Amino acid sequence: TTETEAQLIGKHEVLPNYIPRDKFSHKGQFGHALIIGGSYGKIGAVTLAGRAALSAGAGLITTYIPKCGYVPIQSSFPEAMVITDTDNDKITSINFDIEPTVIGFGVGAGTDAKTISAFEAFLKTNKSRLVIDADGLNMLAKKKTLLKLLPELTVLTPHPKELERLVGAWTDDFDKLAKVKAFAKKHKVIVVIKGANTITVFNDKLFVNTTGNPGLATAGSGDVLTGIITGLLAQGYHPSVAAIFGVYLHGKSADIAVEDFGYQSLIAGHVIDYLGEAFIDLF
Ligand code: AMP
Ligand code: MG
Repeated sequence: TTETEAQLIGKHEVLPNYIPRDKFSHKGQFGHALIIGGSYGKIGAVTLAGRAALSAGAGLITTYIPKCGYVPIQSSFPEAMVITDTDNDKITSINFDIEPTVIGFGVGAGTDAKTISAFEAFLKTNKSRLVIDADGLNMLAKKKTLLKLLPELTVLTPHPKELERLVGAWTDDFDKLAKVKAFAKKHKVIVVIKGANTITVFNDKLFVNTTGNPGLATAGSGDVLTGIITGLLAQGYHPSVAAIFGVYLHGKSADIAVEDFGYQSLIAGHVIDYLGEAFIDLF
């Protein structure tokens, strides 16, 4: 069928899903987010995602990175706990003794064969909700059998190139959406098609975001989105809400930040710094 239900997402659509925080809240109620990723020269991606998860409201954050990132991340991101892989440069085994509410996987991870094997072994025993981005998506594209191991309602956040690797080339936008819908249905996942008008595909429905601007066309902005969605999942938002609300907040933060920085000078870190303004703007 070519008929598709599509909904534009603005403040009035996301607001009813917002979970308020009461006076007696404690951090244990807001979940423990784990970001697994990074490789030599790409630890910053994990820092950005982790800081974004915390700024989106996660109670606790742990990062799982190769050893080379230990000192820089502990120095630059004091709020985070850190677990290191046995390898210096890349992830080669995924072992931790925490029980994360949600795991964001893939930013800056690279696609070394050892990292893919570690990801596969991890997926076989994983019990946590998942967000997969960046090289995590490239791993799924390289080894399609991994798709069978994903928990239901895993959130995938591909940019156009990553999406093409996952679902194949498309002829036009209609064909693209048909391919993504079929893919999402087959694997029971939620797909966030990133771009100027990010579309979240869930249960055969399309949710078209209305926030965001070309200032987001900058290094690391996708890693920040991964963190925001992971942080919302940590707090118990349904995966579809976490994806749709996360995309909205990411864009809204950039819309507010761009008033101070302009399109050219906006960098990914600003999108984290202005996230609070995006939450405040809801009311
Ligand atoms: P990535 O390519 O993984 O760093 O992700 C880029 C992020 O920025 C995604 O959330 C995109 O939706 C967003 N983005 C990139 N370019 C634009 C644009 N021109 N307008 C609005 N959002 C954009
Ligand atoms: Mg990216």
